[in-house]
Amino acid sequence: MSDPNTEVLSQEGSAPRTPRTGREAPPLEVKDLHVEFRTRAGVAQVVNGVSFRVEAGETLAILGESGCGKSVTAQAVMGILETPPAAITGGQVLYRGTDLLSLPEAERREYRARKISMIFQDALSALNPVFTVGYQLGELFRVHQGMSRKDAKAKAVEMLDLVRIPAAKQRVTDYPHQFSGGMRQRVMIAMALALDPEVLIADEPTTALDVTVQAQIMKLLAEIREERNMALILITHDMGVVADVADQIAVMYAGKVVEHAPVLDIYAKPSHPYTKGLLESIPRLDKKGQDLAVIGGLPPVLTNIPPGCAFNPRCRYARDVCRQDPPPPDYVVAAQHTSACHFWKEVREGE
Ligand code: SF4
Repeated sequence: MSDPNTEVLSQEGSAPRTPRTGREAPPLEVKDLHVEFRTRAGVAQVVNGVSFRVEAGETLAILGESGCGKSVTAQAVMGILETPPAAITGGQVLYRGTDLLSLPEAERREYRARKISMIFQDALSALNPVFTVGYQLGELFRVHQGMSRKDAKAKAVEMLDLVRIPAAKQRVTDYPHQFSGGMRQRVMIAMALALDPEVLIADEPTTALDVTVQAQIMKLLAEIREERNMALILITHDMGVVADVADQIAVMYAGKVVEHAPVLDIYAKPSHPYTKGLLESIPRLDKKGQDLAVIGGLPPVLTNIPPGCAFNPRCRYARDVCRQDPPPPDYVVAAQHTSACHFWKEVREGE
C-alpha cells in the first residue's frame, strides 16, 4: 500500500495519485506474479514468476505463442481475471508503487481505465452493436466524469479525432458495423484512452487486421504513446509487428519470461533458443523462395510441464542438464538483457 500521507486525489475521480517527484516509482511494475487455474485436469501454472517494469513513454512488447500466459498476465494486471477458475497465488502489481493486488475491489476499480487501460483484439465483439460509437465513448465521460450529454458527445468527437478517424463529427453517430475492422480498432483505442490512462495494454491489437492496417495501427499507438508520454504494453505472438515500436521485449514461454532485452539487442543477438526460433520464423525478403523455419513440437500442457527447462522437448540445444535442472530466470547476458537458458552463450554466439 502506498503511504496515505503522500497521496492526493486525482482531479477526475477518487483514485489516489502519488505526487510526481524526481524519483517516482514507474507507472507499472510487476514483480514475481503467479497465476494458476484450477481445472479438472489439475492445476495449471499459467503465469509462473513473471516480472517486468515499464516507464512513462516506453513500450514493452510481451511475446509468445498462444497459451504462454501473456494475456493472463495482462488480465491479472487489469484485475479482470475470472476468479475462480483463476487464482493469483503470488506477486505484486505496482502502479506508482501501490500494490493493486492488495486493494479491495471497489478501490481497485478506480485504477482501471483511469490509470491502466486495455484494448482487446476483437473490436467488433468488444463494441456494443446497438449503440453508436459516439454514445459508447460518451458514456465513459458521463459515468466517470459526470459530463452532460452535449459535452460528452463533443469529447467523443475529440477522441475520434485523436485516433485519426476522418470526418469524426459525422462518424460519431455511426454504429460499429458501419466501420471497417481497422477503424473499429481505432474506436477501441479511443475508448481505452478516454480517461487519459498512464499505462495502456494492447492485447493483440492487430491480429484480425490485414498487414497494411496493422502497420497503421502500430504507428498510431506509437504516436499516441509519444504525445501522451504513456507507458505502452503490446501483447503479441508476432515478432515482426513490434520491431519498430517496442523499446524492450519480454519473451514468454510456458508461463515464464525466458528472455528480456532492449529491442535492438534481442533482434541482433537473441540469447534463448525459443526467441531465436521466433525470429527465424519471420518471413524475410532476402530469403524469398526458401521454406520458413518452424519451431517443432507444441507448447507444453500447463498441467503437465516437463521437468527441467519447459522448452527442452522442442529445443535443438537441449542436453541432459536441461531435462533435470530448470534454468534460473535471469542469466545476465548483456546490459538489461537476461535469458533463462543454461546455454545462452552458445545461442548468442550463433553456434
Ligand atoms: Fe534449450 Fe536447455 Fe536452454 Fe532450455 S535450458 S532453452 S532446453 S538449451
